[in-house]
Amino acid sequence: MGEQTARSVLVTGANRGIGRAIAERFVAAGDKVATIYRSGDLPDGVLGVTGDVRDTASVDAAFTQVEEAHGPVEVVVANAGVTRDQLLMRMSDEDFETVIDTNLAGAFRVARRASKGMIRARRGRIVLISSVVALYGGPGQVNYAASKAGLVGIARSITRELGGRGITANVVAPGFIDTAMTQALPERQQQAYLGAIPAGRFGGVDDVAAAVEFLAGDGAAYISGAVIPVDGGLGMGH
Ligand code: NDP
Repeated sequence: MGEQTARSVLVTGANRGIGRAIAERFVAAGDKVATIYRSGDLPDGVLGVTGDVRDTASVDAAFTQVEEAHGPVEVVVANAGVTRDQLLMRMSDEDFETVIDTNLAGAFRVARRASKGMIRARRGRIVLISSVVALYGGPGQVNYAASKAGLVGIARSITRELGGRGITANVVAPGFIDTAMTQALPERQQQAYLGAIPAGRFGGVDDVAAAVEFLAGDGAAYISGAVIPVDGGLGMGH
């Protein structure tokens, strides 16, 4: 029939950018969608629980609230992320640690908490939002690239650990997507990226959301430990 019941989906950071588009897509598909978010407003139909992915207790409490409302989380998307770009020589410990704590440890906290219900249910989908920069590198992005490359290790280890329990863990690696994060880059850097993208354009948030939706769907049941680029060809050859 191809018909599926509404899934309990949790996306971190759905108040704006890529996370917002991902949440909207699951809502449109008829799923029960929740988010752990820090600020801002949410798309219609999304249950918001305030929290911070840098804090284990906050993540755990948010999951508990979401589970009470929607049931155990079946699809989790670790999207929350930050940049603190700085040249290596000038990068502070704080710039490094904040980015690792949010992007890498944050995804770990979220995946760990989600895994409890998924193991019990013997099914689950974990999607980690990485970046083309993970494997491509970026000047001034030692912290960010390290955090995003680490997600590949997380997804592949989860795959080996939980692959036999009906759980998949995949990485989506967006290239240059038009959001607040990239609008903050200097014009010169934006133009340099544009010149390197075979598609000849920046991506939209929906380009990323479509890949996430696919990985969460029935058709992707046999895909795990993969890194799916959504980058217009920028990172070819990863
Ligand atoms: P935005 O800066 O627009 O949004 C980032 C989101 O993460 C916001 O919702 C933000 O919340 C949330 N967030 C940040 N820190 C925390 C935290 N500690 N706890 C909870 N939520 C937090 O970025 P994008 O939408 O562009 O990026 C989304 C993801 O995609 C990120 O992981 C990013 O690294 C990745 N990505 C983006 C690319 C791009 O070109 N835009 C390319 C490749 C990857 P708040 O609004 O409260 O700050």
